[in-house]
Amino acid sequence: MKAAMLENWGQLIVKEIPKPELQNGEALIKVLYAGVCGSDVTVYDGKHPTATVPVVVGHEIIGIVEEICSDKPVDFKINDRVKLSYS
Ligand SMILES: [Zn+2]
Repeated sequence: MKAAMLENWGQLIVKEIPKPELQNGEALIKVLYAGVCGSDVTVYDGKHPTATVPVVVGHEIIGIVEEICSDKPVDFKINDRVKLSYS
């Protein structure tokens, strides 16, 4: 899968990365759109207080549920459109 990877401060590239292996309670989202906010800019500039590199950037996304790994019922299903913001 492709990802926007900040390999070092100020060095953003799009590259192939391994598809994540889901753990219980996680879902894989195929990203359709990702926003860029002020936090992303501070990460890019190396000024974010907790960010480290390398890191896949973008934490405000709209996408489609591609896989679900959960031993409990969840409120969404494969192919649902979702939006999320996380830090
Ligand atoms: Zn943000």
